[in-house]
Amino acid sequence: MDTHVQTQNAYQLPADVKEFCEVAKRIVREELLPLEQEFLPHPGHAYGLKETINLKAVFKKDVVDRLIRISRDTGLWYLMVPEKHGGLGLSILAQVAILEQFMYTAVPFPFANVPNILYECKGNQIDRYLTPVIEGDKTTCFGQTEPNAGSDPGGMMQTKAVKRGDKWIINGTKMWISMAHESDIIMVQAVTDPEKRQRGGITMFLVDRNNPGVRIEEQGIKTWLGPRPAQYIVHFDDCEVSEENVLGEVGKGFSLGQRWLTIHDRLLRGPYALGKMQRALDMSVEWAKQRVTFGKPIAERQAIQWKLADMYVDIQALRSMTYEMAARADAGEDVRAEAALVKLTSSEWGARCLNEAIQIHGAMGESLELPLTLFYRYLRHTQIGGGTSEIQRILIARKLLKD
Ligand SMILES: Cc1cc2nc3c(=O)[nH]c(=O)nc-3n(C[C@H](O)[C@H](O)[C@H](O)COP(=O)(O)OP(=O)(O)OC[C@H]3O[C@@H](n4cnc5c(N)ncnc54)[C@H](O)[C@@H]3O)c2cc1C
Repeated sequence: MDTHVQTQNAYQLPADVKEFCEVAKRIVREELLPLEQEFLPHPGHAYGLKETINLKAVFKKDVVDRLIRISRDTGLWYLMVPEKHGGLGLSILAQVAILEQFMYTAVPFPFANVPNILYECKGNQIDRYLTPVIEGDKTTCFGQTEPNAGSDPGGMMQTKAVKRGDKWIINGTKMWISMAHESDIIMVQAVTDPEKRQRGGITMFLVDRNNPGVRIEEQGIKTWLGPRPAQYIVHFDDCEVSEENVLGEVGKGFSLGQRWLTIHDRLLRGPYALGKMQRALDMSVEWAKQRVTFGKPIAERQAIQWKLADMYVDIQALRSMTYEMAARADAGEDVRAEAALVKLTSSEWGARCLNEAIQIHGAMGESLELPLTLFYRYLRHTQIGGGTSEIQRILIARKLLKD
């Protein structure tokens, strides 16, 4: 049963977007799924959303080069890039629909992973940071969390930047920073006005990883979510940067961070979960039809049918919600609470959907030959990373009470 494309058609996506969805679907079936067996048990693949880095950790250069070539030839490399910067200029809704196709497999498809706030780059910053990130020559990481500042970064952030002459001097320590070691540019938040803090007193800096004031160490704490630790501690010791390293305006770095989190780490968690949930459902339907116990396929047992029905309900509800919220973001609405809704449901329903799929598959559900446990771990992680489920509920309640 393929409910996926039928549902997308019901949204009357523009013809060019439907075409991109079909291209993406074909790439997934013909190029990525055949690589999945090699990818899944590989100890080198990293948790994280830097597709090219994850691919290079597992596959030989010719495989990675081929995928990059397909991405560039089809234009999908520029999926998330505005027209002004040479990209496809697609709406967020279109990006959601296309990304959902790619999230059907554990094998990442390489494309320009540009944090939306990097489009704030001005003057020399464009050549130095934005263009190399769009072209895949440089990658970024995001440094907000600190040892004592997770859910409440605005209130608890200790990293400071002070102006000395025409330089900014940054001091402090960030923790749990994904991909810091592999990244060229650290987008780091620092307090520049302790009185104002998140209301005009936090600034975002673009810091080169090789700046002599930056020291990165692999975090000793390992997580169960990825087979190798991809989180790092980043120390800033009298790290000197210039005015040119300020992203956006001085004092506006907290809202920039929120803008990045709202779209990348919250709204786009919708398609991130949907692709995986759809795959889990498709696999579960097939498995239930062919797995026989006590003389009948398990698909004939109501206990299994209800699991399949619940998974389907979650997928349909999440897809409707995600597409609507994406359309509202495209219409220019403030979607901070709406993105929190998508983040909360995609991570919680996503993990429970994968949990059911693992159960339906029995012992095979735990096997590394199938993508189910990896998907489960990724989705369980999203109940914490990018803002916990509790914080998403706080954002939603705040809007309800304010309105
Ligand atoms: C794998 C991984 C990758 C990460 N990558 C990055 C990264 O690249 N960059 C980055 O900056 N950060 C990153 N993080 C950090 C992540 O964003 C934080 O861990 C997360 O925001 C939670 O912060 P915390 O761990 O300090 O939890 P805490 O803030 O200590 O919270 C502990 C618990 O209390 C709950 N809680 C807190 N406040 C309230 C409240 N007011 N009401 C009710 N409950 C509350 C929380 O929901 C949570 O359940 C990453 C984390 C992980 C695990």
